[in-house]
Amino acid sequence: MRGQPTSDGDGVKLTRVLTQPLQKRLDPFLMLDAFGSDAASDYIGGFPSHPHRGFETVTIMLEGRMRHKDSVGNVGLLEPGSVQWMTAGRGIIHSEMPEQQEGRMAGFQLWVNLAAKDKMQPPAYRDVPPADVPVVRLDGGVQVRVIAGTALGVTGAVTRPTTEPLVLDIVLPAGQSFDALLPAGHNAFAYVYGGGVVTIGAGSSSRVESERMAILKNDADVDGVRLIAETDARVLLVAGAPLNEPIAQHGPFVMNSTAEIHQAVADFQRGALAA
Ligand code: MN
Repeated sequence: MRGQPTSDGDGVKLTRVLTQPLQKRLDPFLMLDAFGSDAASDYIGGFPSHPHRGFETVTIMLEGRMRHKDSVGNVGLLEPGSVQWMTAGRGIIHSEMPEQQEGRMAGFQLWVNLAAKDKMQPPAYRDVPPADVPVVRLDGGVQVRVIAGTALGVTGAVTRPTTEPLVLDIVLPAGQSFDALLPAGHNAFAYVYGGGVVTIGAGSSSRVESERMAILKNDADVDGVRLIAETDARVLLVAGAPLNEPIAQHGPFVMNSTAEIHQAVADFQRGALAA
């Protein structure tokens, strides 16, 4: 499955890999954007000040630098290899602006939903520097960065309750394979990037080209996935426990009902999300 070219923020070009029609199937994940460009004109506008409520944003920087500022008073620099985990909770206003005039900017932003009981929790923010993202090195040059969750007996940089997200960034050299255990019933997808081609098997197998996403089967008897690289590839593997709650989204607000969305807009307009 190919993503949709789009732009967001102040004209930042990106590919929306996980789009709104997939939110139910990939519950608790709401969105995955991939960005990557050598042209400053594609990213220089950045993401000026904007609000969020009701979910978490995970920014995975591969190349380039972005400066984060938010209404809670946090300031952070996202550098290559770093991860930023922001829990919008009841509300936060933030900006993400490039801290470079030229060169390549590349990475991902993943949105993870919060359960109804957690949507109005206080906002929180964590910067994870590259050295704090555990890397598991396996035979054949396979490397697994454990961004969230637990894999291969290693606890990742971030663990979260309820949705139990697993986020792995995998380097898979040609001819090598990697097996990941995934809890049965969790929803999962894999995004292949870095120019490679990967055969992905979970129940059955399919050949996935670079910059394509594969949605993994979530049958009760599927408890893992095998990735086999045809050529050198990178794979972002994402899994989590579904919330099975109604999803109401209006732009940067994700709640359970239209009434809660109206409340979020009203709260934003009267300045209550910046508090
Ligand atoms: Mn944002």
